[in-house]
Amino acid sequence: MLIAPSMICADFARMGQEVAAIDAAGADLLHWDIMDGQFVPNLTIGSALIEAVRPFSELLFDAHLMVLDPDRHIEPFILAGCGRISVHYEACTQLVRTLMLIRSFEDVQTGVALNPATPPSLLDAVLDFVDTVLVMTVNPGYAGQKFLDPMLRKIEQLRLMIDSRGLPTLIEADGGLCRDNIAALADAGCDIVVGGASVFAGGNHYKENLAALRSQL
Ligand code: ZN
Repeated sequence: MLIAPSMICADFARMGQEVAAIDAAGADLLHWDIMDGQFVPNLTIGSALIEAVRPFSELLFDAHLMVLDPDRHIEPFILAGCGRISVHYEACTQLVRTLMLIRSFEDVQTGVALNPATPPSLLDAVLDFVDTVLVMTVNPGYAGQKFLDPMLRKIEQLRLMIDSRGLPTLIEADGGLCRDNIAALADAGCDIVVGGASVFAGGNHYKENLAALRSQL
């Protein structure tokens, strides 16, 4: 299972160095939580910051767009260097068109994010267009929230849907990761977990924090 640190938990004043440090500590990919103050209450960062820090690592940049009308923002984040773009099911009126737009860029993967209340069955018709399903395991909008246990069952359901159709689609869990739930997430069928406080706690102890998470697997 891969660990994707959420870079909104890093020190914004030193973001380039933070990207390099998280890479050197052994992260598998870097997760960017993009919030627009509309789809979610909080505002975070735009594509200009991602473009500025892109040279500090060669890891995959995984953009999670928590924004309304995501089609308007897809190209800037791809041009800034993101290799996967996840949009929210709840924010798309023409989801397949949005996923085809993402796939029209060379070597860019698609993701669909689901809020906690959104059932996995809604993806049944579009799963062939989805490289990663991003399951929100907290309510989107802030870092540092408590993990919602019922989301484990949702991940199990998605795993069955994907495997029964023989698809290569990955499952990523986002929110509330800690040493106590990482093994349960793996057992439920997750391929990628997003880490916030569990990776960034205690200052520059990223390598130890990642090792502590992986030791539970
Ligand atoms: Zn996210």
